[in-house]
Amino acid sequence: MDLSIVIPLYNEEESLPELTAWIEKVMQENNFSYEIIMIDDGSIDESWKIIEHLRAGNAGIKGIKFQRNYGKSAALNEGFKAAQGDVIITMDADMQDSPDEIPELRRMIMEEGFDMVSGWKKKRYDNTLTKNIPSKLFNAAARRSSKIKLHDFNCGLKSYKKKVVKSIEIYGEMHRYIPILAKWAGFRKIGEKVVGHRARKYGVTKFGWERFVNGFLDLASIMFVGKFGKRPMHFFGLWGTLSFFAGFAIFLYLTISKFFFDITGMTQRPLFFFAILAMIIGTQLFLAGFIGELISRNSPERNNYLIEKKEGL
Ligand code: UDP
Ligand code: MG
Repeated sequence: MDLSIVIPLYNEEESLPELTAWIEKVMQENNFSYEIIMIDDGSIDESWKIIEHLRAGNAGIKGIKFQRNYGKSAALNEGFKAAQGDVIITMDADMQDSPDEIPELRRMIMEEGFDMVSGWKKKRYDNTLTKNIPSKLFNAAARRSSKIKLHDFNCGLKSYKKKVVKSIEIYGEMHRYIPILAKWAGFRKIGEKVVGHRARKYGVTKFGWERFVNGFLDLASIMFVGKFGKRPMHFFGLWGTLSFFAGFAIFLYLTISKFFFDITGMTQRPLFFFAILAMIIGTQLFLAGFIGELISRNSPERNNYLIEKKEGL
């Protein structure tokens, strides 16, 4: 199978028939063998009925229905598990992404050898203040911390080599940072393609203001887990030890001043309190690292590594 189109959707009943017809048209024009996997993320409108109806007319359309709304990441994760095509395309269901981009996104994977290609909504038709400007800030932060040169990490339209989607697990709201997950999994050829974008035709956006907070926290945790998830002590232990010894050194200095140079009033000096604080924080950090280490030693995933090849085994 050439292509799996994975579409997460939540209350998108009006868009589905039009979107499907458009994808089918593009697939036929290019002679692709394909499947369309629609993941209904607990919609409370008629989306699932429409999926069943569409499937009756085209057996290549497949559906997964969640019992409740789990979020876009969960939907993508299930879609990735089910996908069978050589190349997997993800796109939003709201018709803001154009299926006409699919052939080129597939070509870049097959011919230019990219592991994944991310769309870039260079000209974007969303609200400037609530979407476009915050998104620029987020992308700059993600670019700096991950060193992946992308302009639009969270673009819904992306293509992947099959191996990539089978190697990553998306949970929480990590769909914003899939390129970083792919990089952590060892896929370094991450490309970008400028894609067309349109204003939402039907329905409303599913992401409110919470995405600022969640987006920031997720970036912090994804970078942290990727870097220190398997060795928490290297982070907490280092800073804990440094902080503890800084406090200890200050105490030493204060003690020497008192006993050898007769400087009294040790407890009245700001340094004294700073030293106490540094030692307490240091101990706390060290303990956090130690507990983290104990937890990761007991985790069933402590020895999960992605193995690329084996021979003679
Ligand atoms: N979506 C989903 N589950 C959710 C929220 C969104 O499957 O809990 C889907 C939604 O139906 C759409 C895609 O994710 O297909 C992108 O959502 P939306 O268009 O609302 O995001 P925006 O374009 O406003 O960032
Ligand atoms: Mg949208």
